[in-house]
Amino acid sequence: MLIKEWILGVGVAFLIFLAMLHVNVVPLLFLAGLGVVLWMMMDRRSAASMGNRETPARHSVSFDEIGGQEHAKKELMEALDFLRYRDRIKNLGIRPLKGILLTGPPGTGKTLMAKAAATYTDSVFLSTSGSEFVEMYVGVGAQRVRDLFRRARQTAKKENKDSAIIFIDEIDVLGGRRGNLSHQEYDQTLNQLLTEMDGMSTTQSPLVLVVAATNRPDILDPALLRPGRFDRQIKVDLPDKEGRLHILKIQTKGKPLAKSVDLEHIARETYGFSGAQLESLVNEAAIIALRQEKEEVTQQMFRDAVDKVLMGEKTGRKPTDDDLERVAVHELGHAIVSELMRPGTVSHITIAPRGNALGFVRQIPETDRYLYTLDHLKQQINVALAGSLAEELHYGNRSTGAQNDFMQASGLARTMVKCGLSRIGIVDEENLPDAVLDTEVRHILSEQDRVTRELLTPYKDEVAAFADLVVQEESIDGRQFRDWLDSVGHNAPTGLKNPVSGVVAMESDVSASF
Ligand code: ADP
Ligand code: MG
Ligand code: ZN
Repeated sequence: MLIKEWILGVGVAFLIFLAMLHVNVVPLLFLAGLGVVLWMMMDRRSAASMGNRETPARHSVSFDEIGGQEHAKKELMEALDFLRYRDRIKNLGIRPLKGILLTGPPGTGKTLMAKAAATYTDSVFLSTSGSEFVEMYVGVGAQRVRDLFRRARQTAKKENKDSAIIFIDEIDVLGGRRGNLSHQEYDQTLNQLLTEMDGMSTTQSPLVLVVAATNRPDILDPALLRPGRFDRQIKVDLPDKEGRLHILKIQTKGKPLAKSVDLEHIARETYGFSGAQLESLVNEAAIIALRQEKEEVTQQMFRDAVDKVLMGEKTGRKPTDDDLERVAVHELGHAIVSELMRPGTVSHITIAPRGNALGFVRQIPETDRYLYTLDHLKQQINVALAGSLAEELHYGNRSTGAQNDFMQASGLARTMVKCGLSRIGIVDEENLPDAVLDTEVRHILSEQDRVTRELLTPYKDEVAAFADLVVQEESIDGRQFRDWLDSVGHNAPTGLKNPVSGVVAMESDVSASF
């Protein structure tokens, strides 16, 4: 770049010099302009063909550093044995494995797995992303694919390795169904990738293995999934409780944790968190410790960090006292019903504004859960509706603070209808008229509104005093809340009381116009 500027400077000086000698510089200026344009175009091309955007791995990752994902790890290692025991594979005449597709939500460790695969097989690692092949100029993407494979082989040779792993993140960007996006450039790039993969053989040295990642395997061009291409698909799902614990252990290794820290409990509380979110949780907790000038990270800091990862940073909003009391009453509504339905599930109640929420009740899932019974869904609707109902019972009116609750409740009701759990029985989701769905959702909601009201009414008079305490303390522990609930001592109407264990999604209250 320096040279370019230098030449430019000299050129300009020369032109000024000529102009001072009364030479006509206009044609020269024109030529110079043309030269610059040509130069810039060349620059583009060479930058494109160098494919210099792939980043080499900085440090090697091992499978031990990946928490949970036991199944995916095992499957991947088995697949990789193709590279490790190449002779045996050749003797048996087995077709070499060319592509592995990792599918799953963001932040679950797909990139980590690809890096670990390179370490495990002692391969060089090149990483790129589907979006980096997308260019306005036709042919550039295809050129980049060609260069990528060439570079992989070159690098492997240079580093004296037998194999190279090319990692393509977001493969769906370039491997979406052809014709769907109907863009010639995508087609060329994808075709080039397929050609490169088809051209690979066992006898080649170094061997190249393509590992690709996507969270949308459904939109991939079927040509990519044909045998001999990405014929191994490995699911990398959100971690279960054991997986989360494992990830937490990995991420907290070497960090100063207070004795009070119970990683098991944190793993239980973080249902639905990805590995990346857990990593960020650990980091946030440490930042809180730093801010408080503490040497150790405590359980309380982890709790705040979970709130932060879930709901966002604490906001500086200062609601009026009236609003604070209303939020407290609202949250108590959620908490009471949650506790009546599933004792022990309230982790804490907070009315410190965070993200979009003015307050929230965090619930502890009892177990990870993948199936929901009808009772369970109804209970979740009850919990969602309880905030607004508590306001109505206490103030005689509702507010705008329950928008999110209602969205959640109707979402659950829609699930009930679509899964054949409503009074109209089994339905064909595709041919379900909107009007019917609407009527059923409304029916379910009004019924559950009635049930929730019944649950809450006995607490109508006692809520006020406790709400004051919530306002004072800003955050109330689940234990303290349960003590209060016991002291009030109403029983839930029989038939509604039986707890069903399981998870209730975190719920929050978006303030529309508070
Ligand atoms: P993906 O590629 O699936 O989006 P990444 O592999 O890029 O996810 O993960 C991002 C970060 O999150 C990692 O660098 C790591 O710190 C953390 N992480 C994600 N999954 C795991 C896991 N299973 N074990 C340990 N850390 C993880
Ligand atoms: Mg990634
Ligand atoms: Zn609410």
